[in-house]
Amino acid sequence: MTQAVCILGVTGSIGQSTLKVLEQHPDQYNVFAVSAYSRLDELLKICKQHRPKVVVVPNEKALELKELFNQENLINIEILTDQSGLIAIAEHNDVDIVMAAIVGAAGLLPTLAAVKAGKRVLLANKESLVMSGDIMMQAARQHGALLLPVDSEHNAIFQSLPHDYLDAERTGQPQLGVSQILLTASGGPFLNHTLDQLKDVTPQQACKHPNWSMGQKISVDSATLMNKGLELIEACHLFSISEHFVTVVVHPQSIIHSMVQYVDGSTLAQMGNPDMCTPIAHALAWPKRLKTDVPALNLFDVAHLNFQSPDTIRFPALDLARQAMRAGGLAPTVLNAANEVAVAAFLKQQIGFTQIPEVVDYALQNVQNAKAENIDIILHTDMIARQIAEKHIVDIGG
Ligand code: NAD
Ligand code: MG
Repeated sequence: MTQAVCILGVTGSIGQSTLKVLEQHPDQYNVFAVSAYSRLDELLKICKQHRPKVVVVPNEKALELKELFNQENLINIEILTDQSGLIAIAEHNDVDIVMAAIVGAAGLLPTLAAVKAGKRVLLANKESLVMSGDIMMQAARQHGALLLPVDSEHNAIFQSLPHDYLDAERTGQPQLGVSQILLTASGGPFLNHTLDQLKDVTPQQACKHPNWSMGQKISVDSATLMNKGLELIEACHLFSISEHFVTVVVHPQSIIHSMVQYVDGSTLAQMGNPDMCTPIAHALAWPKRLKTDVPALNLFDVAHLNFQSPDTIRFPALDLARQAMRAGGLAPTVLNAANEVAVAAFLKQQIGFTQIPEVVDYALQNVQNAKAENIDIILHTDMIARQIAEKHIVDIGG
């Protein structure tokens, strides 16, 4: 019997890496359902190769896809649409594993649906956890979902925690002897830029990450360090720790993917070449191991590992995220929504790179914070924060 996998966001960078890992293990996994938002040509290629049972696309793309399926004689693949379709495949009875790899807030409801259906959920879509934090973690406990981090840092932390960590976390008594989480950051493509230089960087430069090949949004987030800010919040929820136990360490080589320090003076790290196939394979098979094509780390080639503290003057996004986590409630939702709007505006060249954190700061100061009591309040706040961020972008000339 093979395990049935649903890949939300199959045409993206994580989606494609997931397929790459699955292709090597057809005896263990089958691709049951996939979703895509655009790039139907790519989706068609994937469908020809993997023959999923169900595909989800936006409603306005469904007709075109149906015609393509007819031409290719793929008439047995069911086409569902929009959020309802995404939720349907995420919670589908026949699905064992859900890869949550949609980018941004659009992934929240399907990811939560997978968690509530008690699936093994491989979490790449960090924005969904940033927005819904306690609700998502509580749902995982209540419905017996296995929420496993795919984000390389969180996967590294997970690998560096004690083997009984998950049980301890579930019983609410984690006596793990952990003293600090060291969350590593590459520093992005502008690590050594001056503030003046940062003002003029282009979307193309921002999307060129030195170590990782990723989607546009996370590439810009890596360049502003907002990605590390979102990851700080992600770590607090995943590992039930408060933000002051998380230290961000800039490590430009991206060889150590994060570390856990213990009260006895031990520091455990997970290392490897920067390739998302490793954390994806780990989360797919945990507690077993799956073979991948990622070459073993050659420390003689690496030779040097460097570490430095993040510069929060040139990269204020990290502090904004820390403040939002500290404030709690709906502040992380506001941070995330305003950041998504600001990154989109930067990619369209409506605002400059250094204005991204300014827009986020403005939204944090101008959206009323409250308890994140339920998903409706979170979604409503996401919408308000987007409106405020968009209006501010117009006001500052974007
Ligand atoms: P990407 O832009 O390459 O792919 C995004 C996927 O989501 C695509 O399949 C796209 O069709 C789909 N999508 C986009 N907007 C959508 C919408 N409104 N509704 C439904 N589907 C939509 O992004 P990525 O780099 O693969 O990142 C995906 C997620 O994984 C992000 O949350 C990112 O932060 C996280 N992540 C990525 C990496 C990486 O190396 N790429 C590493 C860690 C975490
Ligand atoms: Mg990461």
